[in-house]
Amino acid sequence: MRIDVFTIFPELLEHFTSGSLLGRARDNGVLDLRVHDLRSGAPDPRRSVDDAPFGGGAGMVLAPGPLFSAVEAAAPPRPLYLLGPGGQRLDQKLVVDLSQSGASISGGFSLLCGRYEGVDQRVADHLVDGELSIGDYVLAGGEVAALVVVEAVVRLLPGVMGNAASAEDESFGGGLLEYPQYTRPAQFRGWEVPEVLLTGDHGRIAQWRRAMALRRTLERRPDLVEARGGISDEELDLLARHPDSG
Ligand code: SAH
Repeated sequence: MRIDVFTIFPELLEHFTSGSLLGRARDNGVLDLRVHDLRSGAPDPRRSVDDAPFGGGAGMVLAPGPLFSAVEAAAPPRPLYLLGPGGQRLDQKLVVDLSQSGASISGGFSLLCGRYEGVDQRVADHLVDGELSIGDYVLAGGEVAALVVVEAVVRLLPGVMGNAASAEDESFGGGLLEYPQYTRPAQFRGWEVPEVLLTGDHGRIAQWRRAMALRRTLERRPDLVEARGGISDEELDLLARHPDSG
């Protein structure tokens, strides 16, 4: 999958990439990540990319010229998304969709990172295909947001995770949070691993995990339960048969 990222801090992205699972994905050819310096699109010797906002107000705004030039020179895979708090909110469903966009004609997607007070509106209107937000808070720049998008997407690509994670089992997969996980030792400082996990009875373990995923989601994220259409009678029965975590 090819992912192009446009930023005024390419070294930030390169540094994180080389030190993470993204670097491995790149080395084994699963990920073709291309980081472009927005300053390469700046016409002046000082490579300035920002200017004061028309109408006044605090801070600086990324100007359209360098951004259009940098994107047009790179001809990145589309869709190209501008990162910003006003965009479509990233969730696991969108992550899955993006991870499958590698199969599209252009073979990937691209991200444009804002900075300062934001980006000239004409970039949003005429250069990109959409806007993505990673949540309802304001960052200083789009770089961390781009890394969030890239990491969430790339870990779903075949061959990236050591052990292919089942998208169904993971949090948000079936509309629920994941069940609790345990590893050795079975006793740690007097706290025991739930007995059912030590039985080797895969049927019972699967039932327990489903019950725990349901209970945890009901307690922590009732909105997710509502969004999937509530709880079925069969699930209520399952919960009744698993009254506690053991
Ligand atoms: N003044 C703007 C915020 C600018 S923050 C406003 O009030 O909406 C500077 C840059 O950080 C943005 O252009 C965007 O690229 C990035 N950014 C900030 N918050 C973000 C978020 N929640 N999701 C994705 N990108 C974000």
